[in-house]
Amino acid sequence: MRIGIDLGGSKIEIIALGDDGQVLLRERVATPQGDYMATVRAVADLVEGAEQQAGARGTVGIGIPGAESIASGLIKNANSTCLIGKSLRRDLQALLQRDVRIANDANCFALSEAVDGAGVGAQVVFGVILGTGVGGGIVIDGKVLTGANAIAGEWGHNPMPGEHHQETCYCGRKGCIEIYLSGSGLAADHRRATNAVWSAEVIAECAAAGDTAGEATLQRYEARLARALAQVINILDPDVIVLGGGLSNIDRLYRNVPRLWSGLVFSDQVATRLLKHRHGDSSGVRGAAWLWP
Ligand SMILES: [Zn+2]
Repeated sequence: MRIGIDLGGSKIEIIALGDDGQVLLRERVATPQGDYMATVRAVADLVEGAEQQAGARGTVGIGIPGAESIASGLIKNANSTCLIGKSLRRDLQALLQRDVRIANDANCFALSEAVDGAGVGAQVVFGVILGTGVGGGIVIDGKVLTGANAIAGEWGHNPMPGEHHQETCYCGRKGCIEIYLSGSGLAADHRRATNAVWSAEVIAECAAAGDTAGEATLQRYEARLARALAQVINILDPDVIVLGGGLSNIDRLYRNVPRLWSGLVFSDQVATRLLKHRHGDSSGVRGAAWLWP
C-alpha cells in the first residue's frame, strides 16, 4: 500500500493506493494553523488511522508547498510558514518509525500526471500549477527530478520574458512569472487595463460571453504563458506540458497557447503537447503516494 499526503496551508489530505493504483481511502482534515508540532501530529494521526482502516502498513510520501533543503534537511520556500526551518522529515520519521519521502507539491502534481494521468507514456513531463502561485515540476522516465538545489522546475520565479518589470514578487525578485500568471496576477492585469476589479473566473466567463476587455486580458495572458513556456521548451524539450491549478480550467489555453509558442520555440515544428490535468485536485496527493515506486 502507498500512502500519499498533501500537506497544504488550509487542509491536509491523505490517500491510500493499492498495489495496482486503486484508491483504498481518501480523507482530509483542516491544517492546524501556525502550529508546527500539531501539524506533524495531524499527519501522523492520518497515516495511523488509514493503516488501521486498511489493515496494512504503507509507504509514506508527502507533498508540501516548499522544498527540503539538500544541505540542511530543513524546509525552505514554503508558503505555510510554520514549516520553514523545521526538520519535517526527521520528525515524521520518528513518529511513524519508517523512512518518509518529501517533495514539492508541484513535483507531486507532475509525477501523478506522468504516472497515470495526462502525461502517461511520455518520457519527459513538465507539470505546471497555475493557481494562487505558479509552480512547476519535472518528471523524467517516471521519476521526479529534484535538482542540486531542490528547485528543478521552479520557473514561476524566473522573470517574465518581454516585460518591463515594475512589481516585486513576495520572493523579493522583480517581475517573476508568478506575478503575471497566477490567478491574482491575471486579475491585477485586468485591473491595470480597465480599473475593474474582476476575479480570474469572472474574466474568463466574460471573455467567453464576448466581453472585449475580458477577451483582451485573456489574450495578454495567453501570450505571456506562451512566452514563458517557450523558454521551458527550449531548455527541457518536454514531450508533454500538463497544466493544473484553477486557471488550467480555461479550456481555450490548450488551443491558443501552442499556436502562439510555435513562433517562439527554436525549432521548425513543436511536438510538445499542452494538456489539461486528468486527476484535478487529487493530483498532488496521488503524486505524493507515487514518490515510492
Ligand atoms: Zn518571485
